[in-house]
Amino acid sequence: MSDDLFLKIVSREIPADIVYENDDVLAFRDLNPQAPLHVLIIPKTRIPTINDMQPHDAELFGKLFLAAREIAAEQGVAEDGYRVVMNCNSAAGQTVFHVHLHLLGGRGFSWPPG
Ligand code: 5GP
Repeated sequence: MSDDLFLKIVSREIPADIVYENDDVLAFRDLNPQAPLHVLIIPKTRIPTINDMQPHDAELFGKLFLAAREIAAEQGVAEDGYRVVMNCNSAAGQTVFHVHLHLLGGRGFSWPPG
């Protein structure tokens, strides 16, 4: 059995509040939301960090952003604006080693981030 938490959400071994799915991508609400809208958007295949990304993954990463665009529109934050974040390794705060976009919306965000 895989020890990849997010693959267990893909296979429905672990429940999640899924908001979007296609052949390559799954998106579900974060368990510990940092904004009124906080969705994690993941590839259905295992890529631990951005450092593991290969040239052939470029289209797949693009699909994560296309999903973010669709979800933002569906969830009503596209007009006001939203933040999309991908953490890489511990200094950036990555805790789950299966790449994921955080889609955050429904409140304002400062820049630069802390
Ligand atoms: P990271 O810190 O790796 O960028 O983000 C991991 C995110 O996954 C965190 O925001 C955390 O709240 C979320 N998370 C961790 N475990 C689970 C889980 O089992 N289900 C869901 N829906 N989110 C999770």
